[in-house]
Amino acid sequence: MKTVREITDLKDKKVFLRVDLDLAVSDGEITESFRAEKQKETLDYLVKNGAKVVMVAHISDVESFSELIPQLHILLGYEIGFIKDVDSIASYLDSYSVPGLLDNIRLNEGEEKNDPEFSKRLASNFDIYVNNAFATCHRDHASISGVPSIIPSYAGFVIQEEVAQLEKSVAAPADGKLIIIGGAKASTKIPVIKNLLDKSEAILLGGVVANDFLKERGQDMGSSMVDEDSAELLKGIDINDPRLILPTDFIVFDNKILDIGDKTMKDYIDRISRAKMIIWNGPMGLFENPVFAKGTNEIIMAMANSSAYKIVGGGDSISALDKTGLLSKFDFVSIGGGAMLAFLAGEEMPGLKALEYNA
Ligand code: ADP
Ligand code: MG
Repeated sequence: MKTVREITDLKDKKVFLRVDLDLAVSDGEITESFRAEKQKETLDYLVKNGAKVVMVAHISDVESFSELIPQLHILLGYEIGFIKDVDSIASYLDSYSVPGLLDNIRLNEGEEKNDPEFSKRLASNFDIYVNNAFATCHRDHASISGVPSIIPSYAGFVIQEEVAQLEKSVAAPADGKLIIIGGAKASTKIPVIKNLLDKSEAILLGGVVANDFLKERGQDMGSSMVDEDSAELLKGIDINDPRLILPTDFIVFDNKILDIGDKTMKDYIDRISRAKMIIWNGPMGLFENPVFAKGTNEIIMAMANSSAYKIVGGGDSISALDKTGLLSKFDFVSIGGGAMLAFLAGEEMPGLKALEYNA
């Protein structure tokens, strides 16, 4: 995979920069800016070296980027030109020198279908493709895998760092390596457990993911949240593998397991204190309610106090961590979410494959 630093001459080059700007927006205000700030380094590098940059991104909370331009100007530190559609890219590049932002790429039918004609239309405006949207690299979309199959393509600093950090964590010796998996969305987490079980000392489970294992072990789950298809999801895993650590006591309300209990918490804290490397994704319980946040908060504090190399990812995990003010205690915070889980599951990622292929 080639990175932007390997582009020999950027002066006046027209660069398609796939960025990750899937920001949280509420009442027209950007409420979570972490992802936008992460884009600055690559944008700065391209602009400083004289490239003409058009940023391309999707956003889910609102239809269009148009209303967000003044806020993005402040977050990114540049005046940003708004490009309303694909047909306007060519004239934008001819007329303006400030970085442009194409409107929500998913407004185009060809994007999610990865339509080759759409990719050609996009690519025809540019000399170089740079991908800096790690969080979308598990998608086979035109702006992720289509365009880089047409023009020379490079990885931005975000992708370079994510891949390096995640590769390092997967490759670290099993001895002393702890994986902590909780939360819901078990279908995206169980593949990670499958892939990392042999590569780690132990996997600590919590949340709905743990419920699925407990259910398959024959425990009465009452009204707890479980996945209907847990048997299917857990196929291929020995659910009694001694490296899989399940909660043994719980906080129950309304006949539902909503957090791990004190005994489990103590065991998890003890294991965390002895770890050399920790990969964490997913809260231990229904942490949005402070009554059921203790398990999650206690393991966060244990991790913060541990000297282990610590990696975290996942929207809710980062939000729980942010609430405790201990985010800076982690060595690496992945903005990947689903993409991080796909990487940790050892899945082939179309966005990364396209960069390798074209190197
Ligand atoms: P992340 O975004 O960090 O990957 P997930 O999205 O997979 O995490 O899971 C977070 C969600 O799981 C939270 O909304 C949390 O309330 C929920 N959750 C965790 N444990 C339980 C539980 N025992 N019962 C119901 N919901 C739970
Ligand atoms: Mg989540």
